[in-house]
Amino acid sequence: GPAVAAVDVVKTYGRGDAAVHALRGVGVEFVRGGFTAIMGPSGSGKSTLMHCLAGLDTVTSGSVLIGGTDLTGLDDRRLTLLRRERVGFVFQSFNLVPTLTAEQNILFPLELAGRKPEKPWFDQVVDVLGLRERLGHRPSELSGGQQQRVACARALLSRPEVIFADEPTGNLDSVTGREVLGLLRRSVRDLGQTIVMVTHDPVAASFADRVVFLRDGLIVDEQTGPTPDAV
Ligand code: ADP
Ligand code: ADP
Repeated sequence: GPAVAAVDVVKTYGRGDAAVHALRGVGVEFVRGGFTAIMGPSGSGKSTLMHCLAGLDTVTSGSVLIGGTDLTGLDDRRLTLLRRERVGFVFQSFNLVPTLTAEQNILFPLELAGRKPEKPWFDQVVDVLGLRERLGHRPSELSGGQQQRVACARALLSRPEVIFADEPTGNLDSVTGREVLGLLRRSVRDLGQTIVMVTHDPVAASFADRVVFLRDGLIVDEQTGPTPDAV
């Protein structure tokens, strides 16, 4: 089956006259080894969909499956375990641990899982993201862009089955942004990881092999095609 699937997902915030229908029946599957970009105008439901898919927010009706497991049937403890073991996040709020150095933050999910980092992959990720000189610094000593790169390195290093990325290049200069996207794409190709990325940047979307378009809480279009190698 698919790595991630949404089945007729409805998400309504508030109720009555104040209700906001953020998702109005979204069905979408993300195959293993796929790199999908979700695009759409502001307010179309991209972040809401991402949060529901990642098990960070509950759906009003319908269901979300990760690796065949229906998230709507899980209690908080099981949901946290599933996220920890199978999912990585590259989000704008970086959720870095303030008391840990950049290096400790990057290694944190692996440590939780009782796994050791692969040294060549660690070096590649750290060097591509330009973090070599920053490994010993705490988040408060890093710029916003550097914090984002640490969060990105953390997600890549543990090689989760699924990576959810919310505007992963939002705070990065265009050269670093492309390098990050290249890393994500390589990671998909080499490891069969699945990536779901929200972006409004067509350049970022061109790194994906599929683009899904949202409007007013519904999927209105989809494009698939070979990923261009020279973007
Ligand atoms: P996008 O990511 O495409 O900009 P969002 O998923 O953030 O869209 O928002 C979809 C709709 O849901 C918008 O109308 C937004 O105002 C509304 N919305 C998002 N989060 C909340 C919330 N926590 N409470 C109420 N309305 C929300
Ligand atoms: P928004 O950008 O819409 O304000 P965020 O993307 O910052 O929302 O985060 C939404 C939710 O996801 C929050 O509850 C936050 O704690 C959670 N979250 C963000 N990053 C991670 C992460 N790396 N691991 C677990 N939960 C996260």
